[in-house]
Amino acid sequence: MIELLLFWLLLPVAAATGWLTAKHSLRSQSKSMSAGFNLSPEYFKGLNHLLNEEPDQAIDVFIKFIDVDSETVETHLALGGLFRRRGEVNRAIRIHQNLIARTTLLPSQRRLALLELAQDYRRAGLLDRAESLFLELLTTEEHRLYAYRQLLDIYQQEHDWDKAIQIAQQLLNITDEPVHTVIAHYYCEQAEIFRTRRQPAAALIAIQQALVTDSHCVRASLLEGQLALEAGQQKQAILAFKRVEQQDSTYLTEIIEPLQICYQQLGQWEEFTDYLHHILAHYGEITPMLMLAKIIKHEQGEAQAVDFMVKQLRQRPSLRGLDYLLDLAMANVGSITREHLLLLKDMITQLLKNKPFYKCHQCGFMGKNLHWQCPSCKQWNTIKPIPGADGE
Ligand SMILES: [Zn+2]
Repeated sequence: MIELLLFWLLLPVAAATGWLTAKHSLRSQSKSMSAGFNLSPEYFKGLNHLLNEEPDQAIDVFIKFIDVDSETVETHLALGGLFRRRGEVNRAIRIHQNLIARTTLLPSQRRLALLELAQDYRRAGLLDRAESLFLELLTTEEHRLYAYRQLLDIYQQEHDWDKAIQIAQQLLNITDEPVHTVIAHYYCEQAEIFRTRRQPAAALIAIQQALVTDSHCVRASLLEGQLALEAGQQKQAILAFKRVEQQDSTYLTEIIEPLQICYQQLGQWEEFTDYLHHILAHYGEITPMLMLAKIIKHEQGEAQAVDFMVKQLRQRPSLRGLDYLLDLAMANVGSITREHLLLLKDMITQLLKNKPFYKCHQCGFMGKNLHWQCPSCKQWNTIKPIPGADGE
């Protein structure tokens, strides 16, 4: 209420600075100045409503008291914006609808009022009304980019991926931003829906469209691999998963487990271990290191696996690696040493328990699961596995 009161009290100051100078003739201007910057009975009536905490009545007075014209339109917009910021969206809508109904507005002022009203509707959750106003604003030069972004937000919120793709493709023509990355994710969203509905052929078409739009779309390759694996086509799945290395090697940790399943079903352990060694040598990540250690343990025994882990951890210290080394070590020690190691193991388990494995590069959001759209900043493709000693 204080903000609103302040606004009302500043109205005469605005008049004095020419903000609210009367639109009419010199005669009415001089009259208004001599009357003390328009401090009419209506002004005090409005002020009284505000002091009595009756903002709706104050708006009534405001709308009647201050004519909408090219000079006062900013005051109306400022008051509407003030209500929206305070969360009083219905009041903001009233002010902006009143503005748009006036025929005295310049075309640019009408567009500005439309933009404000569209934002009111969005804030009020009236998405269909907001959508139609933003679509109208696409035809304007000055608000086009903003309208495109708002429409994309609305379609994402509604999971209307067809419309999101359509609008994003138009946006591609007027901006240098990497919109194609986002469009690829929209196709992936469609693919996920088809996959859930057990329509693999339609899912595959959407995946191909994602890859045509953005050849570096890791999510599309992972989805393609999963679909192939579900269809019992392990070789195709392996090709799709391995594509991630060329697309974005920071996501390599995501393919280790699915690749293990593929190679296991094909009975090709040697090819799998060769690939793990290749990843480890070139990218030095923890997940392939742990997978290799487990294979060595299975094939050559615990002593060899311990040996491998000790060598690896000297080069690449890692909490998860240390945790696994303790598991291996505890199997072959006496009860007292085992007690000591268990204590250490408990501490590492506690440390790992709350460790996030993924982080958003845009806003710093961290979590245990991979989200393709950041839940915090809503950007696409900004969350990646955390590398290093306490990461993946
Ligand atoms: Zn973020």
